[in-house]
Amino acid sequence: MELRLPTLLVLLLGFLLLPSCSKPKPHLSALASEPDWSRLSASAPSLLPGDSANSPGKGEGHYWREHPLRRTSPERPLAGLRIAIDPGHLGGRWARMEYRWFLPSEGKVIAEGDLTLWVAKKLERRLSEWGAEVFLVRKAAEPATPLPPEAWRGLAEKYLDEGKNLNLESRDNFQELSKEEQIRRVAEMLFYRVAEIRARAALVNAVFRPDLTICLHFNAGDWGNPEAPRTAKVNHLHVLVPGAAQPEEWALDDVRFEMVQRMLEGTYRVEIPLAESIADALAASTGLPPALVPGGAVQKIGKNPYVWARNLLANRLYESPTVFIEAYVMNHPETIARIAAGDYEGARKISEKSFTSIYTDYAEGVARGILDYYSPVK
Ligand SMILES: [Zn+2]
Repeated sequence: MELRLPTLLVLLLGFLLLPSCSKPKPHLSALASEPDWSRLSASAPSLLPGDSANSPGKGEGHYWREHPLRRTSPERPLAGLRIAIDPGHLGGRWARMEYRWFLPSEGKVIAEGDLTLWVAKKLERRLSEWGAEVFLVRKAAEPATPLPPEAWRGLAEKYLDEGKNLNLESRDNFQELSKEEQIRRVAEMLFYRVAEIRARAALVNAVFRPDLTICLHFNAGDWGNPEAPRTAKVNHLHVLVPGAAQPEEWALDDVRFEMVQRMLEGTYRVEIPLAESIADALAASTGLPPALVPGGAVQKIGKNPYVWARNLLANRLYESPTVFIEAYVMNHPETIARIAAGDYEGARKISEKSFTSIYTDYAEGVARGILDYYSPVK
């Protein structure tokens, strides 16, 4: 092709003007808005050059407190502490869409979002008894986000056309699905995995403003067909702190902002020792061994064998120190039997062993770990 002079001039002019008249388009993760980098000067004024106490734009810093206890007593050892609890996933009528359910060969459907809510309510009761102010991001099997999955169809189609990396899991052979089915799956994922978590984070950061956030989950081995699930061979526990973002995650402006903000505000100063304290107490209350390598993009942090770092939307977005717990493997035969037994007082014999309720063991371990960290017996 022959380029004529006027064309070349237009191209050259465009090239010269480009840097001055157009800002590079931000690289953002799904449903993220462009970060306001000036907010970082409020996060850590002493670390930024030229900033001083009087400079405009200096904010109030973070809302969470490193030493929050006020007038505690032996009966109320956590008085003054504000705790948000995020019962992971939705459960109920949403569990099938979330891929967080299966039907064991005996008994009823097991849905992670229902299990986490049971634990959350027991944990809320215990922490409140000890004087803490507790906030649940959901109290039922219903979403915090106001928009239904169908509302995301237009954006789902746009993301698919752009080839945006949405971390779609391969279990459905996604590429082989019809366009219509792909749009439906992506819209659902934007609903339960992105919009929902962003709505919970908005609630925590703007309304609850806690000193710490606890995310409750149950782990699972790959169960294959949920109506004829495989069982897992090993039952285990691990506890995650935010961190270990992968290179492709650092390349996203919103993720980079959120990671740098966490580092400047020093959430790790609370979350690493808090995670270790919760891990020790949970190991004692559940008797579970550590997961050797939890898998995925996880990285070892510190010396406690239960504690790892991992960058998740569901831990990074909470601005307070955040501990994300994966206790019990849902499709392990012992866990299945204990879930079938439900919640109860005292001990019961299950598969020839004596057990307190699985929900009690989980909630009591987390509560004890929080107590040991914030209000240690001297
Ligand atoms: Zn989970």
